Amino acid sequence: MSQFNFPFEEETKDLKDLRLRVRNFIKKTFKEDKITPSPDAWVFSTNPSFSKKLGDQGWLGMSFPKKYGGHQKSMLERYIVTEELLVSGAPVAAHWIADRQSGSQIIRYGTEDQKKNIIPKITSGECFFAIGMSEPDSGSDLASVKTFAKKTTNGWKLNGRKIWSTGAHLAHYMIVLARTTKQVDNNRHSGLSQFLVDLSLPGIEINGIEDMTGQKHFNETVFDDVVLDKDSLLGSEGKGWEQVVGELALERSGPERFLSHFVLLDNFLNEFKSKMSEFSTLSLGKIIAELQSLRIMSFSIASMIEKKHSPEIQAAFVKEAGNNFEKKLIEIIREMSNLIPIQTWSPSLKSLFEDATLKIPSNSLRGGTSEIMRGIIAKKLGLR
Ligand SMILES: Cc1cc2nc3c(=O)[nH]c(=O)nc-3n(C[C@H](O)[C@H](O)[C@H](O)COP(=O)(O)OP(=O)(O)OC[C@H]3O[C@@H](n4cnc5c(N)ncnc54)[C@H](O)[C@@H]3O)c2cc1C
Repeated sequence: MSQFNFPFEEETKDLKDLRLRVRNFIKKTFKEDKITPSPDAWVFSTNPSFSKKLGDQGWLGMSFPKKYGGHQKSMLERYIVTEELLVSGAPVAAHWIADRQSGSQIIRYGTEDQKKNIIPKITSGECFFAIGMSEPDSGSDLASVKTFAKKTTNGWKLNGRKIWSTGAHLAHYMIVLARTTKQVDNNRHSGLSQFLVDLSLPGIEINGIEDMTGQKHFNETVFDDVVLDKDSLLGSEGKGWEQVVGELALERSGPERFLSHFVLLDNFLNEFKSKMSEFSTLSLGKIIAELQSLRIMSFSIASMIEKKHSPEIQAAFVKEAGNNFEKKLIEIIREMSNLIPIQTWSPSLKSLFEDATLKIPSNSLRGGTSEIMRGIIAKKLGLR
């Protein structure tokens, strides 16, 4: 059976100091720029000027090498910054994907030119990315993607369709998973490659898709005979599957999987802490204890990544437990309306609650569904 534990990692004094610096920066910038906290801000709240300010502070591309404009800080330092941004509902959606996964993917697999051209712009908060994995008929089953990149004399010709790509309408690049050879034998994972696609190229059409909340944050992206040069290939031809699995681990392992609606809890407590009955204190206490456990596990994952381990089961576990926590949190706040009538809630709290309620279904879909996460955990533990 694979190892499944979460070594405890202490938050050092330096990390605590960093946390305070980030908190003060957020407070000051929110005031100066009249920013209000948003729920699910890492997906929905885009503010390129805020992203640039974070870049100026050295809080983007924190773990990337200095050679490419990064800061060579630890994953634990990055975790602290990320956590503070999430709990304050800061407008981080513009740079989130580039900072979380695309930049690391380029550093790991990219050519020297790709690194030199793109990484400094990610770390300065001026270059945004979208994820091009899902397709209309391939979500959980990524190996079945049909988008095809055909080799030409000077590079590649890309045809196909990606769907649900968060922020593609604002992004400069998309990392696209495509087939480069038809599936051979029974190996469904062979013949896939990743491409670094400049979204301003001719032949690319990006169509917004409205979600249940009426917002348009994700998109369908159509590639119609898009001409890509040789340098667009990211990593090795035919190794797209191995590469995308690593990218998914980065996508799934962070604290955004349980902190998306922290602003709702925070606002609720601020508004009603003096009116809590014994019952509500007990329910909220339980949920806060659960949150604290998730934080400890997620911080431990950051430490494992820092030590070059690959905490795949742990990441899948925290994503799944985190998504369940978010559902439970919203449910408990809903139960509170039996004790404190919703008519007495402030308009901003009501709006946070309504928004969170409508987003419940998407939390356990994005980044991989619950069934897929449980399947990964079971497989890695040797249970299936
Ligand atoms: C808010 C949001 C943002 C997203 N952003 C992006 C993005 O930026 N880029 C991107 O590429 N994608 C994105 N996605 C897509 C997301 O990753 C997919 O929706 C997800 O992988 C599920 O794929 P699907 O919708 O095709 O569902 P399907 O794969 O068709 O699954 C349907 C149902 O069947 C279950 N199922 C499927 N296979 C199995 C199995 N083997 N065993 C058991 N049950 C199974 C699933 O759990 C699910 O309940 C986003 C989705 C959401 C909701």
